[in-house]
Amino acid sequence: MTKLPTGRPILPFTPTVDETGQPTVCHCCGRRAIGIGIAPKGDPAYVCGECILLVEELRKVRRLDLYELAALDGGIDAVGEYIAEKGITDLAFMDELDQRLIVKAAWMGCVDRLRKLLRDGGAPF
Ligand SMILES: [Zn+2]
Repeated sequence: MTKLPTGRPILPFTPTVDETGQPTVCHCCGRRAIGIGIAPKGDPAYVCGECILLVEELRKVRRLDLYELAALDGGIDAVGEYIAEKGITDLAFMDELDQRLIVKAAWMGCVDRLRKLLRDGGAPF
């Protein structure tokens, strides 16, 4: 996996299982996972309903670096469009690392909240 200068992976969507063995987040995209894992051992690498459609492709991909970076770029585009629309500022004033970190912070904030909601038993959907 691609590492940030901090040494942490860009898209650390693990563990994908809680302490009771229930799926939490998708190994691929970070959305809510269902009970199909793609890893033969260790963390089961559970995936979500949409990523199940790609499961054969995911098994073929040994290194996700390019996918991770492309996903981050998609996030940068989406956040940039959003904040420009709101008139807050422009991501172009930030360097590449800060652009990636703000998107990662937003993404991981969603995933962490999803994990908490699932762990506390009662997701709001
Ligand atoms: Zn997914």
